[in-house]
Amino acid sequence: MTTWAVLGVAVAAVGLVWYWSGRYGGRARRGTSLVRGPHTHVNAKGRAKVGYATREDALAGARRASARDGAPMSVYRCDTCARWHVGHAK
Ligand SMILES: [Zn+2]
Repeated sequence: MTTWAVLGVAVAAVGLVWYWSGRYGGRARRGTSLVRGPHTHVNAKGRAKVGYATREDALAGARRASARDGAPMSVYRCDTCARWHVGHAK
């Protein structure tokens, strides 16, 4: 029965992630499957953003991106993957 317990936990984990992605996708913009907005786990192309382990790492990435794009960037803690992402400041 241990195998079934492990399988159940795995299915529950996948379901939880699916629920989260649907929830945040729905909040960002209706009518599209792509998650967009200033504080999301994915970029405008719908692909997962680079995740930084610490705020300091994210700030270093934000400085590089800001210098490249010439636009102010901000960092934020992601609710989806619990890492830090860089996004355009509003
Ligand atoms: Zn994320």
